[in-house]
Amino acid sequence: MDYQAVLEEIYKEIQPHFGEGKVADYIPALSSIDPRQFGFSIITQDGSTYNVGDTQTDFSIQSISKLFTFTLALDIYSRDLYTRLGVEPSGNPFNSLVQLEYEQGKPRNPFINAGAIVVTDSLIAHYQDDYKAFEVILNFIRDVADDNTISFDPEVSSSEMEHAHRNLALANLMKSFNNLDNEPNQAVQTYFKHCAISMNTQKLSRAMLYLANGGTDPLSNKKYLTPQQTRRINAVMLTCGHYDASGEFAFHVGLPGKSGVGGGIVAVVPGKMGISVWSPALNHYGNSHLGTLALQKFVEKTGLSIF
Ligand code: GLN
Repeated sequence: MDYQAVLEEIYKEIQPHFGEGKVADYIPALSSIDPRQFGFSIITQDGSTYNVGDTQTDFSIQSISKLFTFTLALDIYSRDLYTRLGVEPSGNPFNSLVQLEYEQGKPRNPFINAGAIVVTDSLIAHYQDDYKAFEVILNFIRDVADDNTISFDPEVSSSEMEHAHRNLALANLMKSFNNLDNEPNQAVQTYFKHCAISMNTQKLSRAMLYLANGGTDPLSNKKYLTPQQTRRINAVMLTCGHYDASGEFAFHVGLPGKSGVGGGIVAVVPGKMGISVWSPALNHYGNSHLGTLALQKFVEKTGLSIF
């Protein structure tokens, strides 16, 4: 299949939709981003790459980082991790508090904010130091993306820290249920730092290859997870990767995927390729509006949905 031609066709078809959606403005540092940007990258397991649009522009990966922290925590704690969080879709917005109260501080899954804060807390506990934990997370991302220049944007993380009331509320609530080892402030600060890591769609699609290939990077041959753990991560991506729009994403796209409020989405075609798409304007659920549309067109044109 001529993937380059498919991407270029999609790029043309989405043009009339520029201007729809809204950039995340609850993080002030993200509010000034030009919404009229779009990039789509694919990398197949043999290393062939296909790109269209702004695929070299770095953006804030935000919740996509939760995928990498979950991978690390799963590798360290294995199934013990599930004593602290579940793998069930929440059906609620990513930063919702209500469910966490009536479910005694145990987050539904690792991809809503509460679950990701628990995962980050577990990494801080393991390394007994928040700076060390962040360094491990950043180095892991550099490793799977095969790019040592990847870094985080301190302006984005401080901007989020200044408006952290809701995430701190989630962390404090979990602390009150004994589901947080470290101080809420420390866990949330480290969480914001990994959310503020900057990447582009070329780097992100590359970083998906280990998940497309049963836990082993097909290009470097490095093994990160077992095939069983990888299947499970992909299952949680499919069912929880887009928060309360996960059902809709499975319905229209049908690929394990994870979104972030920076407008990025990553997706995996198991056994075939890593995908990343980016466009900063979001839909009502906090997922990239044009990114979702482009992925929908991609599976319609290629038949590469898992269903
Ligand atoms: N850092 C963001 C937050 O905590 C991540 C949310 C997202 O990307 N959905 O709100």
